[in-house]
Parts: sequence; C-alpha cells; structure tokens
Amino acid sequence: MRLSQYFLPTLKENPAEAQIVSHRLMLRAGMIRQASAGIYAWLPLGYRVLKKIERIVREEQDRAGCQEMLMPTVQSAELWRESGRYEDYGPEMLRIRDRHDRDMLYGPTNEEQITQIVRDNVKSYKELPKLLYHIQWKFRDEVRPRFGVMRGREFLMKDAYSFDLTAEGARRSYNRFFVCYLRTFERMGLKAVPVRADTGPIGGDLSHEFLVLADTGESEIACHADFIDIDAHGSTIDYDDAGALQATFDHFTSLYAAVDEQRDPAVEKALGDKLAVRRGIEVGHIFYFGAKYSDPMKALVAGPEGESVKLECGSYGIGVSRLVAAIIEASHDDAGIIWPDAVAPFKVGLIDLKAEDAECARVCDDLYRRLQKAGVEVLYDDREGRAGVKFADMDLIGLPWQLVVGPRGVKSGVVELKNRRTGERQELAVEAAIDRLAG
Ligand code: ATP
Ligand code: MG
Repeated sequence: MRLSQYFLPTLKENPAEAQIVSHRLMLRAGMIRQASAGIYAWLPLGYRVLKKIERIVREEQDRAGCQEMLMPTVQSAELWRESGRYEDYGPEMLRIRDRHDRDMLYGPTNEEQITQIVRDNVKSYKELPKLLYHIQWKFRDEVRPRFGVMRGREFLMKDAYSFDLTAEGARRSYNRFFVCYLRTFERMGLKAVPVRADTGPIGGDLSHEFLVLADTGESEIACHADFIDIDAHGSTIDYDDAGALQATFDHFTSLYAAVDEQRDPAVEKALGDKLAVRRGIEVGHIFYFGAKYSDPMKALVAGPEGESVKLECGSYGIGVSRLVAAIIEASHDDAGIIWPDAVAPFKVGLIDLKAEDAECARVCDDLYRRLQKAGVEVLYDDREGRAGVKFADMDLIGLPWQLVVGPRGVKSGVVELKNRRTGERQELAVEAAIDRLAG
C-alpha cells in the first residue's frame, strides 16, 4: 500500500478525550474514530489489525475442534423470556421494537439463541458433543463506556458454546477451551494468566478469566512468576487426548493467580520472590454452567437408554476488539505502538526519505514491487515531505520493521533496516534486505 493513497489520518497531538495510552494511540495512529459514546468506526489500519486478531482466534478455535457459524445480532425477546433473562438483564440490554410492535433486542451475548438452535436440531446423545462458535458484534449499554474499544458499547466478541451429554463431557470441553485460550493469546505475543472467576449472574461452578499482563491494566493481579516465564503454552497439545488436556489445566490452575478479595497474603508471603504482582486486562472468559439454559429452555436429547437428558453446557468468550487495545497497552513506547509480528497491520514500512529525488523513488518503487512479490506486507511512505514527519508517523503506527531509503544509501547501494521494538539499525544491500524481510 502506498501511503500517498492510503486513508491514514494520523494526529500529532494527544486527543483530550483519551485517558489511556491505547485509546490515545489508536486515535493518533488513525485506527479508529468514535461514532457515538462507546461506538467506533474502524479505519483501514485498525481494521487490518482487528482482522489479524480475528484470524488467530478463528484458527485456534478450528484447531480445537470448534465449528464456526454466524448468528444474527438482533434477537427476539421471546427467546430471552424463555430463559428468564429478558427481565433480569437490566439496562445494559438494548431493547428495540419492530414495526409489528414485537420486542426485539441487540444481542449482548448468544446463549439463548444457540441453545434454541441446538435444542431444535440435536436429538440424540450420539450427535454430542457439539462445539460451536461465532465472531459477531455485541451491544451492551455499559454505564460508563470508556477507554475507547477497551470498554465499548458495541464490540466484537468471539463466543463459543459447548453441548455435552454429561458433566464429565462438559469438563473435557471446558479443558479444550482452556488450552485453546492459552495458545490463542500466546500467538498474539501476549502473556495471559487464567484466574478463577466468580460465576456471577450467569451462574455455574467452573469459570476462569484470562488476564493479559500490562502495566496499565484495570485490575491488580498477583500470580506465580512462572506465568511470566512460561512459553509455548501447550503448543503441541493433542485436543483428542483428554488426559493431556486435564494435565495442562491442572498445571496452570495449580499455580497461584488471584485478583481482589481472592488474594491470600499467607500464600503470597510463602511464594517469596516467586510472586509477581502486575496489572491485567480481561480478554477472555470461560464458564461451565451445566443446565442453566437447557433446563428452562427444555434443551433435551435422548440418552443411551432412551431417557431425556438435559444438555450440559458452557460458554467461552474472547474480546476480539478489546484485544486490539490490550495488545497496545502491553506493547508500546513513548513514540507509539509496537505491534507483535503476528498482528501487525503491515510487516514493514518502506520509507523514501526523498521522494522528490528520481533515483530514490526508482529504488523504492523497485523494492516495493519486489517485497510485495515475495509476499511481504508493505506500507510504502512515498509521500514528499520532511523525513522527521515520516519517521514519527512510522514509529507511531508501530510496524515491526522500517526500511529506510535515502539519497546517500542509494548511491552506495545500501538501505537501512530498523527494528521498531529494539531500535536496532542495520545497513544492508538491497538484496539482503529483501531476503531478510521475506524470510
Ligand atoms: P467485563 O468484566 O470486562 O465487563 P464481562 O465479564 O461482562 O466483561 P463477558 O461476558 O465474559 O464479559 O465477555 C467476554 C469477553 O468480551 C470479555 O472477556 C471481554 O474481553 C469482552 N468484553 C466484555 N465487555 C466488553 C466491552 N464492553 N467492550 C469490549 N469488550 C468487552
Ligand atoms: Mg467476564
């Protein structure tokens, strides 16, 4: 993409409305614009990142044996009356009336809808388990939408649902998602710690929240230092091996991790220098809630003896749009964002220091073509103008690599490759630079 043609409205000044660094940087880097309170438009750069995150989430759900589908955003109130949540949910639910005076709502979550679909279409225990997910916009009329997409009113969530015959089966499904979440966040370059969670208004008795560690996180978390050192969370796990899944679950839940009133001073004292106290952002939440919806909604299947059995269920959310902000909170410096490779909107920013110089432009155009041919995602700053502005914009938008081409280098056949994270710079021949980036 040529920057001269790209829609990238960057801002030099910090917007007054943004209180946290990710919100400031997302506005300044031209990733999002507010439409109304807690509702955002995703501009091209931001949308690329959102899509990359979505893709990682999708690949890991698929790998774990979960099947993608798509449910609508607008739901009927009737369905929610069946579960009893229409009255319970409160003012966070956006209620709508259609032209026939029917009560509708913009879905804050989809337990009812998926339970109805499974109830109407799965009749026998032989069809179980079923693991289903979708990635869809949600609306929750939050009391205090704030921090940009971190706590929006409209936000993108991956929500998965599991349906099993027995509590033991449901447990296996839960473990699958637990491991899948460790892998998902790790692939995004994040440290995510599973913390036992309140089951809250959804109910049930097995629930974990996944907190991404970032200095600016909303909640304080105390955890075993191993969480910070561990890499490759279950990266070779076989999802059909129930024993291995349970072992991974047992390992991670045996390590201390606590927020708020769960914290135990005695345990923390005993941990000594193995205790890490950090801040975290909730990016995922998994629940096992048994028959909470299948009971009132009469989601029954025929069991092995022909008896009617209530489905055993769980739900598993990931805040896809919140992750964009969480990654920035975890990875930035004073100059701007530092994207982890896996979610970067482009891999490299090609900077022509002197676009009005024909020779510079020729070398850059050639590099641009060849990088694209090699499958490298390039944002090419071909604008005329001051070098300082170009460097500042490139640092701000945080692409992992910058390839700088100036008149002096062009004469001697070299370009400069800068690593955004380390700041390390290296002069390379054009060929070598292409090889390095394509590798
Ligand atoms: P929170 O405690 O942050 O309000 P929640 O517990 O209500 O979140 P869940 O119902 O568990 O959220 O939703 C699953 C995931 O969706 C959360 O882990 C979070 O990452 C994301 N999420 C929830 N609410 C919002 C929001 N208002 N804006 C952006 N993401 C959200
Ligand atoms: Mg939650």
